[in-house]
Amino acid sequence: MKKGWSCGIRGTAVLLALTCLFMAVSLYRNGDMQRSAAGVATENDASEPVILLDAGHGGEDGGAVGVNGVAEKTINLALVGQLGTMLTAAGVKVAYTRTEDRLLYTEEQNIYGMRKIYDLRNRLEIARQTENVVLISIHMNKFSDARQKGVQVYYSVSDPRSRALARQIRSSITSDLQSGNRRVTKPGNSSIYLLERADFPAVLVECGFLSNPEECAALCDTEYQRKLCFAMFCAIMEYISTEKGSAT
Ligand SMILES: [Zn+2]
Repeated sequence: MKKGWSCGIRGTAVLLALTCLFMAVSLYRNGDMQRSAAGVATENDASEPVILLDAGHGGEDGGAVGVNGVAEKTINLALVGQLGTMLTAAGVKVAYTRTEDRLLYTEEQNIYGMRKIYDLRNRLEIARQTENVVLISIHMNKFSDARQKGVQVYYSVSDPRSRALARQIRSSITSDLQSGNRRVTKPGNSSIYLLERADFPAVLVECGFLSNPEECAALCDTEYQRKLCFAMFCAIMEYISTEKGSAT
């Protein structure tokens, strides 16, 4: 990159995530200052993207259940928290669909059999109400074959930036964490409500398989979560930088 920001130090960085985070923030701020000096962007630029982090499921909807009994909703929320902290520290605008263990529905929408539908509608509405939004939905996978593993990234087809971001995330994760991951990015189909209806940049990251004992254990580990988040963090920073560059 190409513009002052680099995650090329990944090998060491991931092992020393906290140290690296501060380094990353420093590099980013340095890059931002350079861009500001060039008149390209300022810290208060109203066109700055807002990264909307969406922890899948919540409350009575636990999502997939891991082989060790862990609920998907719990890991989703933990990852979103760590990723949000990294992005915020780097000066990125961050918003969340949920920060608590609950589904998103109002008292009037508390209708048995409809809560999950309202929940998804409300998440979409939050995204639509957020200016310059980039939606990143975090989920966990599950499959009958326990050998299946690895991150899989889906993107919304309505906005070409979605695919670019999905590829960036895949690239970052395969170079940092999962060199053997052969899962290509895929367009979200009608089974992924948010991606099908998104008219803004949107991706959904299936962060791993809770049906795979090894990966499930890793996903429950705070240090692995940090590595995963750092890989996504690097991808998001590169995406933002690329978008800023192409907007000039
Ligand atoms: Zn899910």
